[in-house]
Amino acid sequence: MGRDFTGLRRAALGALHVMFPPRCIACGAGVAADFGLCPACWRETPFASGLVCDKCGAPLPGADEGKPEYCDDCLTIARPWQRGRAALVYKDAARRMVLAFKHGDRLDLRRPLAGWMLRAAAPLLEPGMVLAPVPLHRLRLLKRRYNQSALLSGAVARAAGLTHVVDLLQRTRATRSQEGLHRDERFANLSGAVRINPRRAGLLAGRHVLLVDDVMTSGATFAVCADACLAAGAENVSVLALARVAKDA
Ligand SMILES: [Zn+2]
Ligand SMILES: [Zn+2]
Repeated sequence: MGRDFTGLRRAALGALHVMFPPRCIACGAGVAADFGLCPACWRETPFASGLVCDKCGAPLPGADEGKPEYCDDCLTIARPWQRGRAALVYKDAARRMVLAFKHGDRLDLRRPLAGWMLRAAAPLLEPGMVLAPVPLHRLRLLKRRYNQSALLSGAVARAAGLTHVVDLLQRTRATRSQEGLHRDERFANLSGAVRINPRRAGLLAGRHVLLVDDVMTSGATFAVCADACLAAGAENVSVLALARVAKDA
């Protein structure tokens, strides 16, 4: 019975692949399996792997010797969170995929992107952890129709079997876009702009929170969200970005 069912599934999948052959998620070229990259796009996609900063996931030169190392940013800017990772470095094919997911309604990228994030986050994950997305202000949510960070955090939480609290954090006011702002301006722009949802405040005491965002640039957004979680009694906070903007990228 089980074997028949598997055979049936394989046949159905085969028929589906005849009608809709698997495509590279970045360029649309034919590939062997669903949700994959073609070899050319794979080479052009900078994964944040190897030795990475333990606070933000930025790749670092040198070999991983099993002890935490930090990038220049994380050595000079106070980071209220404990550890961090990113799946991608924000450039080349990775940048194009992030932008397509963020603005171009390529929601089909959610599954492969979340899979890469889950792999990057493996060293941070622990039982009982609460995942929460960086919030969008409701005006921006109306304009964009979905919070891309919430889609990613939901998919990562589900795959990891961890609790997802989609409305843990709230924007208290609309802030101007962070684009084009210098680092200090980015931190000032967000000051006091995020709070814990009063209806969720009770569940943070003693918990370890993993904050999820699409792109980490200065870290200002993660910092203001981490501060809010810690003030509400979270034991500690880690962060996970889909892509990290690296200085030399
Ligand atoms: Zn491709
Ligand atoms: Zn760093």
